[in-house]
Amino acid sequence: MKIVMKFGGTSVTGRENVQRVASLITSNVKLGHKVVAVISALDGVTEKLLEAAELAEKRNRDFIKPFKQEILERHLNLASESLEITSVRKEVHEMITETVDELEKVLTGIIYVGELTPRSKDYILSFGERLSAPIIYGAVKCLGFEAKYLTGADAGIVTDSNFGEASPLMNVTEHQIKARLLPLLEKNVIPIVTGFIAATQEGVITTLGRGGSDYTATIIGASIEADEVWIWTDVDGLMTADPKIVPKAKTIPEISFEEALEMAVFGAKAMHPRALEPIMDKQTTVKIKNIFNPTAPGTMLVREMRIKPGTTVKAVTLLRDAGVITLSGASMIGTPGTAAKVFDVLGKNGINVLMISQGASEANISIAIRRRVLDRAVNALEMALLGRGLIREITAEDDVCIISAVGAGMKNTPGIASRIFTAVARKGINVRMIAQGSSELNISFVVKEADAKAAVQAIHDEFRLDEV
Ligand code: ADP
Ligand code: ASP
Ligand code: MG
Repeated sequence: MKIVMKFGGTSVTGRENVQRVASLITSNVKLGHKVVAVISALDGVTEKLLEAAELAEKRNRDFIKPFKQEILERHLNLASESLEITSVRKEVHEMITETVDELEKVLTGIIYVGELTPRSKDYILSFGERLSAPIIYGAVKCLGFEAKYLTGADAGIVTDSNFGEASPLMNVTEHQIKARLLPLLEKNVIPIVTGFIAATQEGVITTLGRGGSDYTATIIGASIEADEVWIWTDVDGLMTADPKIVPKAKTIPEISFEEALEMAVFGAKAMHPRALEPIMDKQTTVKIKNIFNPTAPGTMLVREMRIKPGTTVKAVTLLRDAGVITLSGASMIGTPGTAAKVFDVLGKNGINVLMISQGASEANISIAIRRRVLDRAVNALEMALLGRGLIREITAEDDVCIISAVGAGMKNTPGIASRIFTAVARKGINVRMIAQGSSELNISFVVKEADAKAAVQAIHDEFRLDEV
């Protein structure tokens, strides 16, 4: 089989985990499989790079030295601990040192110009994966296997220049990945590829959006027509809820692409929301598995939706950093095209709408979006719509989150919404806004952040998701 294995940041920390990752790769090669490995940045490193980029933009010079030292030491130490063959350790140490020197130069450059463009931000964010993947490359070599370290761009991933959330240009990408990776696999060389990062046709570094290493794995999987893509993480698969919120949450053995997509969009971090796109029309099987429990079956994603009789809600998810904008004005009543105007403004400003609801009185419309774009959205709407007679007031809330109940079995089953909202009301939680996806695969609602955990637990209990 051809298998693409992706290892998340939560899996690549500490010597034991590095060796665990290397042995999961090589044991499958020993079984006769052709394996491509995709590696994320070490846990927390992408976040640190983001902070560094922002400090550099503020022209803060003092942080560079300690920051450089910290990031250099963390990666060199992990390499020293994990790589037992001297020549390999030396090679990886050199790769790390050179890369950190480059990072220092880039940050210094930002300090001089005092400007952080989306393009330079992606360049800075790329260093996390460029520092972690060489360590896994070394660990695989230490086990006596031939390996090659490649960045996403080296592997052949070409994207548009939508920095921060770039999309692959699949035709060239497929062609290049085939040409570059298949010959390696033929020669039994294991490609170790950086997740999350790629480049434009001109070679400018881009990123695929936070959590994008999952996406890298499926882009490569689709291109080489892999039999399977395995997303290795720190939990047993996609679960009925985030186990950090609901400790008794259960692993979902099988879930459809559509349901998994809804879960990912509404906060289940275990998979990137766009990761299923590239393999939609392929035969590739996707599995989510736990590196700490590798023999467990994990979750299998299937293309066709099979609904087990009696199942309704399958999982409940939480999207934390949301914001809500409410537009109100009596003249909106019966005026066609108001909603269209609102979405036109948001669309032109590149703001993605997560949820919409309009009161039956039509006197207000509420829209949920990501919190980080809230200010920008409010400004744009105020400039475009206020004072034109239609909308009287625009208000924003930045302390809310979105809870979703997901499951294909909810379709055509009456009474689900009432059970959800009764369970939530019993806990004394106020629901700010409600929407049902037209796919009827999810019912989503907005609550204050402080109520989020209790609301997730209430739904999990109501549908006894730990017993299914
Ligand atoms: P990785 O570093 O492997 O990419 P992530 O942090 O991106 O890991 O995703 C895994 C985490 O997603 C888990 O540790 C878990 O806390 C969280 N998570 C949230 N919702 C779910 C869910 N429904 N099922 C499984 N994991 C979830
Ligand atoms: N390192 C990147 C992030 O933190 C990509 C990933 O983890 O998948 O977003
Ligand atoms: Mg992730």
